[in-house]
Amino acid sequence: MLVDPDGRKISGDTAMVDKLENAAGSIIKSEEARQVRLQKRIDKRIAKGKSTDKLEAKMSDSKARVDEIKGLLSDISNLRKSTQEYHINSNWTPTGVSGIDGETVYNPQTGAIDVNITASYGIAGLAHELTHAFQFDQGLTDFNLDGINRGYLHDITDEQAAYRRQFAINGGIKGKSSRSQIADSCVRGLSTQHTYLPAFHMNKKAPLQKLFMFHGTINLKLTYYPSFGHAIKSYQDAKKYSF
Ligand SMILES: [Zn+2]
Repeated sequence: MLVDPDGRKISGDTAMVDKLENAAGSIIKSEEARQVRLQKRIDKRIAKGKSTDKLEAKMSDSKARVDEIKGLLSDISNLRKSTQEYHINSNWTPTGVSGIDGETVYNPQTGAIDVNITASYGIAGLAHELTHAFQFDQGLTDFNLDGINRGYLHDITDEQAAYRRQFAINGGIKGKSSRSQIADSCVRGLSTQHTYLPAFHMNKKAPLQKLFMFHGTINLKLTYYPSFGHAIKSYQDAKKYSF
């Protein structure tokens, strides 16, 4: 399991990352202008003694969207400073499960984390995958060394965060009209790959006991850990063991 590799920066289609950052900047500007207009309307209604609930809800949606996008921009800037290489393939053709628009995977040949995006997935999809990339950089998610699948730290909160970023860029999550609708059950319904993800946060500090409780039934290798007396050790302590 790959937890703490070494490498470089963002490579590949960096122009697409620039395009995402420009779009993100424009969204922040237009949401901030919208917030000024909303505040004027709120003030007027307060002066008239009228309810401002609906306008306040719009204001809070707008602020949440700006926060998501600022978080994304901060992640991108941190990825550029990372010692790990993240390689953007923006014209990717899926080879495995059908209906997949993008993926973030470990590439055993290059040592890079490949961020693979189909042409139609676009910058909103890139926002989703770069969110996973930075989750990896922080030790919140991981990848199998074979590069095929995500590792034991992948959980539903990782996906929820990525879908909320995607939504903040284009609002395009099937039938969802607000950020708050992108919750646990919604995310599980978006892909069969998400159906059985752990419902709680897993990170590299997660106790092996916790990983065992969730994954022990699906990967017998993990059952070794509690019997080795490592139950109170964390996943990062176990890096020297192979999963
Ligand atoms: Zn995802």
